Amino acid sequence: MKVHGYAAEQAKAALAPHSFERRDPGPFDVVVDINYCGICHTDIHQVGDEWGGSVYPMVPGHEITGIVSQVGQKVTRYKIGDKVGVGCFIDSCRKCEPCRKNLEQYCLEGMTTTYNGIERDGKTPTQGGYSNKIVVDENYVLRIPDNLPLDKTAPLLCAGITLYSPLVHWKAGPGKKVAIIGLGGIGHMGVKIAHALGAEVTVLSHSLKKQQDGIKLGADHFYATSDPKTFEKLKGYFDLIINTVSAELDWNQYLELLALDGTMVVVGIPVDQTPIGSFPLVAGRRSIAGSLIGGIKETQEMLDFCSKHNIASEIELIPIQKVNEAYKRVLNSDVRSRFVIDIKSLG
Ligand SMILES: [Zn+2]
Ligand SMILES: [Zn+2]
Repeated sequence: MKVHGYAAEQAKAALAPHSFERRDPGPFDVVVDINYCGICHTDIHQVGDEWGGSVYPMVPGHEITGIVSQVGQKVTRYKIGDKVGVGCFIDSCRKCEPCRKNLEQYCLEGMTTTYNGIERDGKTPTQGGYSNKIVVDENYVLRIPDNLPLDKTAPLLCAGITLYSPLVHWKAGPGKKVAIIGLGGIGHMGVKIAHALGAEVTVLSHSLKKQQDGIKLGADHFYATSDPKTFEKLKGYFDLIINTVSAELDWNQYLELLALDGTMVVVGIPVDQTPIGSFPLVAGRRSIAGSLIGGIKETQEMLDFCSKHNIASEIELIPIQKVNEAYKRVLNSDVRSRFVIDIKSLG
């Protein structure tokens, strides 16, 4: 099946038009005509080979929404015309303990990532959503509820689940004080979801520049981390801190903001190692943890939760021809929300 998209031909290259083949749908496959794809910071890391091992040409994109246009003979869960999504992975081993617990993102063989990965056949590179069609096994496809618009829902497939999973796992809810570090593409989803879960939500942002946005999204409080008084005032305050920032921060300083038995969960991935002292941990029986997206079952739960609470992402819709410019703006933090590519612009 001939597919058109945008790819990077080598590390750090500008994305440019690229045509490639996808497999014809097998009995369990769904073909999705892609309508929208979000731009995730991960796309920029991988196009730049910042984590190593990137494979080119690379068609990025793992916040995909669209419409089912073909189904294999044995597909039971989807039919032509359904609104669907595809997130960060399109397969996994299906046998290991994490897979059997619906936690495919922690598959012991490694999940098959939507792009910059290798299919389970061991040889075919996977290609992502900056393209007009994708072929995915029905078990790795998500159903988009009717009331959610496809453009604003695309970022839920990575940014949304990245925050929903730790918020639910560490029981954000009424009576819990939750802080979100960073109000970028994923942080703003955290504010909306934590607020909808009933928690008291505080944004810790570099400056007060985005304060109005934060309050509008549902934050109860907003503090600038460039002001040293913030760290004195909030010492020992939070039950849960979600760190969405992928720039280097002094994690120790933030651990001090946790109450007894509090947890800081890291979901942003800085390129360099971050040193942690033992004192902020032992004082207050605090924990530091990490969390990676969510399994298919939980991602569907997140979409249904967002449908019930009318949550979607704040987006800036762009034609694919502006993707390189958008990358620069993400790197300069010159975006208030999430860029989403209108795939129709491929022509
Ligand atoms: Zn992502
Ligand atoms: Zn597995």
